[in-house]
Amino acid sequence: RPRVLSGIQPTADSFHLGNYLGALREWVVMQETHDAFYCVVDLHAITMGHDPELLRRRTRLSAAQLLALGIDPERATLFVQSHVPEHTQLSWVMECLTGFGEAGRMTQFKDKSARQEADHVSVGLFTYPVLQAADILIYQADAVPVGEDQRQHLELTRNLAQRFNSRFGETFTVPAAHIPKETAKIFDLQDPTVKMSKSVPAGVVELLEDPKRSVKKIRSAVTDAGREIQYDPENKPGVSNLLVIYSALTGRSIADLEAAYEGKGYGDLKKELGQTVLEFVTPFQEKVRGYLDDPAELDKVLRRGAEHAREVAAGTLKTVYDRIGFLPPA
Ligand code: ATP
Ligand code: MG
Repeated sequence: RPRVLSGIQPTADSFHLGNYLGALREWVVMQETHDAFYCVVDLHAITMGHDPELLRRRTRLSAAQLLALGIDPERATLFVQSHVPEHTQLSWVMECLTGFGEAGRMTQFKDKSARQEADHVSVGLFTYPVLQAADILIYQADAVPVGEDQRQHLELTRNLAQRFNSRFGETFTVPAAHIPKETAKIFDLQDPTVKMSKSVPAGVVELLEDPKRSVKKIRSAVTDAGREIQYDPENKPGVSNLLVIYSALTGRSIADLEAAYEGKGYGDLKKELGQTVLEFVTPFQEKVRGYLDDPAELDKVLRRGAEHAREVAAGTLKTVYDRIGFLPPA
């Protein structure tokens, strides 16, 4: 079976629709066909400053949400990144293979650092994509399901794998990004030119918020001039975004939706999309509450996941250390 690896940051209480439609939905599908490794990437979550108590809570909340979305610990290895120290150990090796200028071209770093005071931008935020490469490469992953915003990081990962292989001998699988066609980038409802994001909470539909709030956010989503409900991301980014979300949640094609909404207004689309979201999140929230009611069981799942992940990760690290010329410990 091919391997799949992906991660999500515990940087907010709730995942949002972009996380789900861009990535997490694929995680659930791919656990059926792949040897799956999925992690809550807490090491990445401390790159922009954080509160320890919140982080602890959000790490459990993230795991509970993944389980509620259908990640099955019998099928997939679900774990917390910091429980597998080999990620950071490989990351150091990868840092020494990464050019300073190469890392400086990463647009996520440019965007996120621009949003902070210069004094607060950490070296960790700068090297984030290198740690992400280590996350992926240490499992010899073939495929990495992510949203469009991660394409550049995946390209860096591939380059690092190839660079290591050509310098030190075939060691790493060169992974491919697995980016969904229709839902690769879900946009913010208040500003449909930027991606929906945990760290910029404007028009973000959070899976764990009161569904009435989501309905309201959808009702007040920024739409476009004109009145036709048409998929036209250039000229009608707001309506197009709503159509993409609606199509993904219902399985109806965009063309089908355009036909069904001919002669109707934005208000109708928003109302029905609101209802669809409500029906999706209500049972999800119920399941999350169930997992949170039993934190001991949740921690057990994560501990078992980490044990298995460590076996695989330690094997790769041992080979890497040997290839680069580190003496084995006595
Ligand atoms: P942050 O703002 O803290 O970076 P985030 O919302 O980008 O949070 P991540 O944990 O960084 O969430 O990403 C988890 C996964 O969700 C990644 O695969 C990412 O590509 C995907 N993703 C995030 N936002 C979107 C979006 N708006 N549309 C599609 N996929 C997305
Ligand atoms: Mg992100």
